[in-house]
Amino acid sequence: MLKDIDITNKTYSKISFDEPNICPMCSHSIQPILLSNRLHFYNDHTNLGCFSAFFECTHCHKSFISTYDIEHEKTSSSYKYYKATKLLYSVPSKFKQQNFSDCITVNYPSFVKIYNQSLEAEHYSLDEIAGIGYRKSLEFLIKDFLILHEGKDENKVKPTALGTCINTMIDNPQLKIVASRATWLGNDQTHYEQKYTNQDINDLKRLIKLSVNWIEMIYLTEEAEAIEKK
Ligand SMILES: [Zn+2]
Repeated sequence: MLKDIDITNKTYSKISFDEPNICPMCSHSIQPILLSNRLHFYNDHTNLGCFSAFFECTHCHKSFISTYDIEHEKTSSSYKYYKATKLLYSVPSKFKQQNFSDCITVNYPSFVKIYNQSLEAEHYSLDEIAGIGYRKSLEFLIKDFLILHEGKDENKVKPTALGTCINTMIDNPQLKIVASRATWLGNDQTHYEQKYTNQDINDLKRLIKLSVNWIEMIYLTEEAEAIEKK
């Protein structure tokens, strides 16, 4: 919700900002209680700076600080007006693991562990290594699927490049499509120069989740096939 308030540490100054509607600690939808605020300029000669607001969550009652980029909007006879343009971060922020179905958790624990470590790296803004981690998680998902479910020889699967495994060993056409695209984007995360400049880490995550979905569909279809007509 957009709020218009007096700035605590600057006299005759007001700011409008969008207060966070999700608590970074408990992830509940909230309208937080504003406890205090500060405007800070990076130096004395510009209006460049940041605005920090100190909140209490109305659900878990923990406090957190949200920091925003600002811009100077206008100066009237009595007030300076600022606008918070972008929420930069809220701290502290509790990391939440991605939950996967039993089918994935039980059969592919290495994938789940590596994916969640990558998600945690991304959560703490370690974006340069998160992508590499997601690429590694995909490799464990696909290779373990080929060995455990498809019965492929692990001595052949393990040393073979992931792209080759997908092209030559996966029978399901939908899984082959999404896993191959995920590999392209994943490999891009490990290279010095990126080729897929129109896609980002969110596209990679989407394709990995689609690969997970197709693997789940394969298991669920097999369960359905096992039901015999009476
Ligand atoms: Zn909370």
